[in-house]
Amino acid sequence: MRSSQPSGAPDDDGPDGLFGLDEIRTGSPRPAVSGPLFRDSPQARRMLSVREIHAEPAAAASPRGRQVLAGFPDAEVVHADSHWRIPELHGNKGNAERWVRIKSTVLVLGEKKTLTVRPNGRSADWIAPGAANGCAMACAYCYVPRRKGYANPITVFTNIDRIIARIRHHVVGQGPKKEPNQCDPSAWVYDVGENNDCSVDALISENTADLVHAFARWPTAKASFATKFVNPDLLLLEPRGRTRVRFSVMPPEDSRLLDIRTSPVEDRIAAAADFLDAGYEVHFNLSPVVIRPGWEQAWAELLRHMDDVLPQRVKEQAAAEVIMLTHNRDLHDVNMAWHPRAEEALWRPDLQQPKRSENGSWNVRYRNGTKAAAVETVRGLVRTHAPWLTIRYAF
Ligand code: SF4
Repeated sequence: MRSSQPSGAPDDDGPDGLFGLDEIRTGSPRPAVSGPLFRDSPQARRMLSVREIHAEPAAAASPRGRQVLAGFPDAEVVHADSHWRIPELHGNKGNAERWVRIKSTVLVLGEKKTLTVRPNGRSADWIAPGAANGCAMACAYCYVPRRKGYANPITVFTNIDRIIARIRHHVVGQGPKKEPNQCDPSAWVYDVGENNDCSVDALISENTADLVHAFARWPTAKASFATKFVNPDLLLLEPRGRTRVRFSVMPPEDSRLLDIRTSPVEDRIAAAADFLDAGYEVHFNLSPVVIRPGWEQAWAELLRHMDDVLPQRVKEQAAAEVIMLTHNRDLHDVNMAWHPRAEEALWRPDLQQPKRSENGSWNVRYRNGTKAAAVETVRGLVRTHAPWLTIRYAF
């Protein structure tokens, strides 16, 4: 069933405030903003210009849902029984142009039912239940579409109060971190963006802001998310050092081929100091590392560029993850239909080995020896060109 939004769609939920949980309501308020927000700019609209919102009824009726709907008053609202089952949106049918159109013009509103905090131990100590699923960008190697298909638009989870309450419960249960580890010397790190890009999500709703402000009040924990998008609106929040932004970087020529719709790598690096000054911790993901002719030289140039342009204060607190490319048989087949040039770099049976994933599909990754040698090469390049950059882990 399709309907137009009522003309008087509320932009707040009355005297009790939007959030309904004291812990969220008492968080540091978003500073008053004078001047236009980035999310209202033409640049932001090129990323997202929402015309259609598929909404579960409860999600649409929730405070966060109503806020999102009010932000896109001209969008058509379409009833959805479940955010997981919208066949006309999900899957790999059609062509890339259609997928990108769906990603940039369609949103889904749903409620997250499973609020699980999962152990990680590599990038973060824990994977928090996400406040969104799906992405408006379209990186050719992205694992996020594996379940919903390539044309998966962003699903915003509207029960952010329950998501934050679940994380808080876990943070309280953990108590202080007693031993430093590769994730952080003193804080329990929670990845809050496993299947989404929190910077793009902040163009749509206050979910990212709520997470940042929740963690700002938890002295034993830290939020962490990777991003390929520079959203200056995040600089208006008050993270108080409790959110780690991990800007993903790769050689710009690789990024232009593989990172579709993202901010240029140079812009991500240039934004690092602003984010640090705004109170974020700023790390880098050197990822994915794609082995192709000339890759070592390209990474050396990237690291030299970082060394040249990043101010000392960024270097002093920076750390990095190095993540070698993993790819997927099904995604390879999808990409061959719309971006075969990307597959020349991504699909290298001469260097890769298959591994059956938990959901039964075939992932590929560089063979053990190839991968170990490449990781050593990256470590060496970092030592030579960016010796200030601690590698937290390489995988
Ligand atoms: S930005 Fe991240 S989540 Fe979005 S398409 Fe690229 S890899 Fe996937």
